[in-house]
Amino acid sequence: MYPAPFQYHRAKTVDEAVGLLAGIGEGARVLAGGQSLLAILKLRFDEPTDLVDIGRIANLDQIDDAGEVINIGALATHNRIGASAIAEAIPIVSDCANGIADNQVRNLGTIGGSVASGDPSCDWPTLLHTLDGEILCQGPDGARTLDINGFVEDLYQTALKPAEIITGLRFKKPAAGSGGAYCTFKRCAPAYPTIAVGVQLTIRNGQVDSSRIALGSAGLTPIRASAAEAELTGGSLGADEINKAAEAAVAAADPYDDRRGSAEFKRQLIATLTKRAIAIAQRRAGGETVKNSPEYY
Ligand SMILES: Cc1cc2nc3c(=O)[nH]c(=O)nc-3n(C[C@H](O)[C@H](O)[C@H](O)COP(=O)(O)OP(=O)(O)OC[C@H]3O[C@@H](n4cnc5c(N)ncnc54)[C@H](O)[C@@H]3O)c2cc1C
Repeated sequence: MYPAPFQYHRAKTVDEAVGLLAGIGEGARVLAGGQSLLAILKLRFDEPTDLVDIGRIANLDQIDDAGEVINIGALATHNRIGASAIAEAIPIVSDCANGIADNQVRNLGTIGGSVASGDPSCDWPTLLHTLDGEILCQGPDGARTLDINGFVEDLYQTALKPAEIITGLRFKKPAAGSGGAYCTFKRCAPAYPTIAVGVQLTIRNGQVDSSRIALGSAGLTPIRASAAEAELTGGSLGADEINKAAEAAVAAADPYDDRRGSAEFKRQLIATLTKRAIAIAQRRAGGETVKNSPEYY
């Protein structure tokens, strides 16, 4: 099906995009890579009056290592991030970026669009929960920074205000002795994960100093599994602790039946992927190079 007719605007700057969105009002939508939005328009799930294309705003696709903090521009594509020095240095970033869909989608889809869509199946929001990320936004009232926790408020609903756009994402560089893994299980490459689990561990003298566990496609929003983290923090990653963390991750989730699988199947996946991600994160924290890519069924 063709989308309903709309006016197309190409913004050259963030200010121009925000001005256009504010001026047009309710009927305007931001267009970035179009990998989620165009499907929605073609299915006529949404019929905006205007699209404001931000895809050619200069320098919004930069990836910067600013010492302790990593900054990623909203227009950085999944492939650009996956091929970056950041992904090489921080393997959990590579797991996420290179596991998204197929090359076609990864070449066009952006990290900003992934976060803005409020889709619990999108990988970047889950990854940013794992890394305690922040979202940089700009709107008619100026710039603001939001915590990833609580940013996705409900299914496809975010804390973005009208006419506000995401300009970038940032997170602290994981400390020395830290390792992470992002594990997904999906039907095929150009499909969203049935379940995704991100784990980031900092281990000192054999003990877990800090842990982060986040779940994707496991409810209406990305889920931070704090009780699961508590099972690991302060311990030595024994089998009992890992089993309890996996059980707590399952308890934190609220999966539903859909064509990717039943809620019960997804709960089993959460337990398995949590244990797998912990094992890889532990090995990476110890300095080992561990390959990790999505598992298909
Ligand atoms: C076949 C297929 C498989 C896919 N599989 C996966 C997968 O496995 N994992 C995954 O994570 N994703 C997957 N995706 C989604 C893909 O990653 C999209 O690229 C991403 O979700 C949206 O990015 P985009 O740049 O294409 O955004 P668009 O489609 O242009 O926009 C998406 C939404 O975000 C808004 N938006 C976009 N950018 C901004 C911004 N900077 N500020 C404010 N609002 C903005 C738009 O208005 C729209 O509502 C898949 C997509 C397809 C088509």
